[in-house]
Amino acid sequence: MTTAARAAALQARAAKVAPAIALESRYGAHNYHPLPVVLNRGEGVFLFDEQGRRYLDMMSAYSAVSFGHSHPALVRALTEQAGRLAITSRAFHTDRLGPFLETLCRLTGMPRALPMNSGAEAVETAIKAARKWAYKVKRVPDGLAQILVAEGNFAGRTTTIVGFSSESQYRDGFGPFAPGFAHVPFGDAKALEAAITPHTAAFIVEPIQGEAGIVVPPAGYLKAVREICTRHNVLMICDEVQTGLGRTGRMLACDHEGVRPDGLTLGKALGGGLLPVSAFLAREDVMAQFTPGDHGSTFGGNPLAAAVGQAALELLEVEQLARRAHDQGEYLMAQLGKLNHRAVIDIRGKGLLVGVEIDPDFASARTVCEALMAEGVLSKDTHDTVVRLAPPLVIEREQIDFAVNGIDRVLRVLASKQTTSAEAATA
Ligand SMILES: *Cc1c(COP(=O)(O)O)cnc(C)c1O
Repeated sequence: MTTAARAAALQARAAKVAPAIALESRYGAHNYHPLPVVLNRGEGVFLFDEQGRRYLDMMSAYSAVSFGHSHPALVRALTEQAGRLAITSRAFHTDRLGPFLETLCRLTGMPRALPMNSGAEAVETAIKAARKWAYKVKRVPDGLAQILVAEGNFAGRTTTIVGFSSESQYRDGFGPFAPGFAHVPFGDAKALEAAITPHTAAFIVEPIQGEAGIVVPPAGYLKAVREICTRHNVLMICDEVQTGLGRTGRMLACDHEGVRPDGLTLGKALGGGLLPVSAFLAREDVMAQFTPGDHGSTFGGNPLAAAVGQAALELLEVEQLARRAHDQGEYLMAQLGKLNHRAVIDIRGKGLLVGVEIDPDFASARTVCEALMAEGVLSKDTHDTVVRLAPPLVIEREQIDFAVNGIDRVLRVLASKQTTSAEAATA
């Protein structure tokens, strides 16, 4: 198809899908800027739009759909449990929560877990646990506990969490913010040590920064952070909402450096791509800070979420998806490495969490993603310049080839367009 024909087809499609987009736009808050595609079905690594056109999902809902869309085993767990018992609140015990927490602790090597729903809630739980631990165990004077965070962090959208974001758009207009947070540069262990005070309760860090543009810290960083936190009696809390559960090629991204954190947040893939399920996990003396009435959630740990979460974890183990993410990730990186295109400034990541940084003088990552959509590949830009590639962990090699070929074609077409417009300008 020529570029003009492709553009015309894209336009025709956009006009057809307009009703659904128009309704969303008319009645919804404009807090997202989705690609102009209306999806109505998903199966494995594929998504389908209203016209039945098939797309390869290279985003998997920001890593929440690690198992692919509507995995039969997970749908079965969901529907069976939904027909039996779904929501009870934590006012009562259920036969589902214990086994889920046991599996979660066994697979992560953490002693205790507290179930929540969204990733942001898991991080909020971590903050509460760290502060109370600081007052009760570390004996920090009341009200003075400080939590260190990394520049470029993303941990969700609550007012407390955006308060410690270093991204001005996430904060603008939403203050005043909770005090008690300070920034250190990401990837710099020396800076972390220099920032620690006697009042420091915890350092919250993503092992790889996802929303910041798939930023991988220098090798040895997590190990150094672990050592520094231990030496200063500061909790190392890893936010693995995005990097956890096999995404980077190990069960946890911390496992790459053989590091066990004192606190851990999980979410996204924990819900099997079907439900919001998150958890805060911690060592005994940290989790012991919570006593009845301190903290909770109406939906956290509900039997439906527990059944799906447990089925997701079992699938992760049985299908060895971490191993798979490692192998397919290496293949994806190798194929991307062959692109050899001037627009590609950097390719980075681990496992199946990969960012392709595009030269902003060439095109915005958004433009690339829109063009990829026309090629049948769905992804999402992050931070204007990075195309995120985080497909379901069940992706096959030929599907990776399809995605990389799509990227190759898109970059070539954009480059030829630029040449044409440059020629037109000189003519
Ligand atoms: C997505 C994300 C969160 C927030 O999860 P939500 O479910 O959107 O609240 C927290 N931390 C990290 C590292 C994330 O990527």
